[in-house]
Amino acid sequence: MAVERWVADQLDELVAFRRDLHTYPELLYDVERTARRITEALRAAGIDEVVSGIGRTGVVGVIRGRSGPSGRSIGLRADMDALPIHEASGVPWASSRPGIMHACGHDGHTAMLIGAARHLARTREFDGTVYVIFQPAEEGGAGAKAMIDDGLFERFPMDEVYGLHNRPGLAVGSFAVASGPVMASVDEIYIRVEGKGGHAAYPHNAVDPIPVTAAMIQALQTIVSRNVDPLKSAVVSITTIHGGDAFNVIPQAIELTGTVRTLDAEVRSQIEERLNEAVAGIGLAFGVTALLTYTRCYPAMVNHALNAALTGEAASAVAGSSNVMTNSPASLGGEDFAFMLERRPGAMIFAGNGPSAGLHHPAYDFNDELIPWGCSYWTTLVRQRLSP
Ligand SMILES: [Zn+2]
Ligand SMILES: [Zn+2]
Repeated sequence: MAVERWVADQLDELVAFRRDLHTYPELLYDVERTARRITEALRAAGIDEVVSGIGRTGVVGVIRGRSGPSGRSIGLRADMDALPIHEASGVPWASSRPGIMHACGHDGHTAMLIGAARHLARTREFDGTVYVIFQPAEEGGAGAKAMIDDGLFERFPMDEVYGLHNRPGLAVGSFAVASGPVMASVDEIYIRVEGKGGHAAYPHNAVDPIPVTAAMIQALQTIVSRNVDPLKSAVVSITTIHGGDAFNVIPQAIELTGTVRTLDAEVRSQIEERLNEAVAGIGLAFGVTALLTYTRCYPAMVNHALNAALTGEAASAVAGSSNVMTNSPASLGGEDFAFMLERRPGAMIFAGNGPSAGLHHPAYDFNDELIPWGCSYWTTLVRQRLSP
């Protein structure tokens, strides 16, 4: 048990590749440079086929095994995009683009999958087909869905699909996975409370939206505490409030935004319904026009039980079972790999990034020491799932 020996020969190159992506981060679907670097690396590795432009800027590489043909196939997925955050890591390879940085480690996910793809293309000691998937727009743009809508699973028919995300705070060389819902659905709410503006000294001549907003925010807190089953998990957060310009003027309208997170499709629908009732009812009670726009962004990410167990086995073969947590607690963060797991059996595993700053923090950096572990995990998983 340890990282695989082949990684050592590639490590310097993979670290340089990762740091290059880190220096030139790109947002959402605008990952042209990153996708080009990936395409070049896959072509140089001599893999069978490289297809770009799937879901706008996604890339898929096809690697066929030496033995077979059993017809089996699996997909391995990485994400490419960065975040609109101004980097404060202080590392020499920090972002050269003000206000954009790789604060979620997608540069590292990409480098690890490139490393695995190169090794698989060179050795081909498996039976079947491996698809390496590089998706854009994980950070709020539903890039996984865009690739699916562009025929990902029809053009590259795969039996199973797997993801890997780094996890700060978990030791390098450790892995964590769980079956069932492991990350939350992510929904966006927008509320507009329209009253009637006027002079602050004559509230009887106006319809003040401010106390209505206060009542509404209080009431929305009770959806989780009084409506949702206490044994289920949910979050309703109001995160912005905008309205009013002067101390002596009653504003015409207030706008609120927020987010809803749950691990359960029924709870998700229940909260959407209660939000609609509460916003409309409170608006009616106070005599204002209250409008809720509820947008479903990402579904909950649900690891399939069998595949979660299989990823745990692959990680144990690399890191030792004492370093693989198989009942990792769920989180109410979101992850658009959820869309792929709605279509194909599979699972996402988390790999320790060590004691780094948290994800989406300006001081975060992907830990290059994780590269050998992630590469070894991928190639071990392929060997186990597509054993000749
Ligand atoms: Zn992220
Ligand atoms: Zn991420």
